[in-house]
Amino acid sequence: MRAYSSYKEIVSLVKKADSIGLVPTMGSLHDGHLSIIKKALIKDEIVIVSIYVNPKQFNDPGDLKKYPRNLKDDLEKLKIFNKILVYAPNDRDVYNEGEEVKKYNLGEITEVMEGKVRPGHFDGVATVVEKLLSMFKPNNAYFGEKDFQQLLLIKALVRKIKLDVNIIGCKTIRESDGLAMSSRNKFLNKSERESASQIIKLLKRAKKMYNTSSPRDIKSDILKQANAIDNLKIEYFEIINVSEFLKDIKEVRAFIACKIGNTRLIDNIRI
Ligand code: AMP
Repeated sequence: MRAYSSYKEIVSLVKKADSIGLVPTMGSLHDGHLSIIKKALIKDEIVIVSIYVNPKQFNDPGDLKKYPRNLKDDLEKLKIFNKILVYAPNDRDVYNEGEEVKKYNLGEITEVMEGKVRPGHFDGVATVVEKLLSMFKPNNAYFGEKDFQQLLLIKALVRKIKLDVNIIGCKTIRESDGLAMSSRNKFLNKSERESASQIIKLLKRAKKMYNTSSPRDIKSDILKQANAIDNLKIEYFEIINVSEFLKDIKEVRAFIACKIGNTRLIDNIRI
């Protein structure tokens, strides 16, 4: 499997395809990424998988520096697929010298949760996703529900800038104990990994309480439960009616972000 750093080369290879799918990733691929690629290959004739750790979406330089990168392993994992092309650019292939992120003003969805605790993060994400969408002009672009707020942001982005692409959400793939797969999980030591398995339990507890308790009471209960878990520090826990942000998505979700040791993890479930 080879990786291309020139998008123009990829564009010339997919010119005749009936339908193009795009799966943006930051690499360190796991089964969550692979399941998105499989889903994309059912719908689209050719799927472009981008592997790029976008520096503009990291508000913490330390986090960017330690983000896991292993293109060789990633390409090995992608060998099982036919009909995919891998775009793995360098920073200079994506950004001009000194280029700033765009400011999108996509509304309240960018001001809560991840938007609040990671200032500038979503403008960085939107900047790189707009670039990828305009390079490849895919019919469909696929994003994981694991980063549900990001999925909403991308939907809001393509509406705002009127891009002709379907944004397709893909369900969260989990380890056998329920921990959402993430490139960051490999940073967890044994006891941290044990604590990380409690995240899904907190979300499920919130879901169970939802019929009988107010969001406020649920939140205070979950914060109390979380406090008792070793190594775990909550950044936020929220129950959100998604239609408040995007009218046509009628669902309620519980969202959590926490630090386990030095590793930041997020997750969410529909409730
Ligand atoms: P990342 O490489 O972490 O930026 O993720 C690339 C894409 O894969 C994003 O759309 C993520 O939401 C999605 N993704 C990450 N982890 C999972 C997972 N466990 N299940 C499903 N999708 C995921």
